[in-house]
Amino acid sequence: MKGIPTKCSRCGAPINWKRSASSVSCEFCGHLNTLNTKPFSLTPISRQLEKTFDPVKRVLAKNLQTLVQKQNVLSNKQVPWKIIDITTN
Ligand SMILES: [Zn+2]
Repeated sequence: MKGIPTKCSRCGAPINWKRSASSVSCEFCGHLNTLNTKPFSLTPISRQLEKTFDPVKRVLAKNLQTLVQKQNVLSNKQVPWKIIDITTN
């Protein structure tokens, strides 16, 4: 099968894999041989998710900034009075 080593990575002796085993000890040297390929690797998926959601995150952050700015403008207009420092006059 593809991706499954047929020889011990330490001594080169042939390995007898058991079905559904992801690792096997070498009968000759005792070296634990493991499968190189992981059936379920989440790394590519999480990278893809980052790629997809990074622009969305940036847009949301930008929108939030705009919203905060608008809110500030609105607040200034809606407040009919301002605190004026009269101590300097
Ligand atoms: Zn070995």
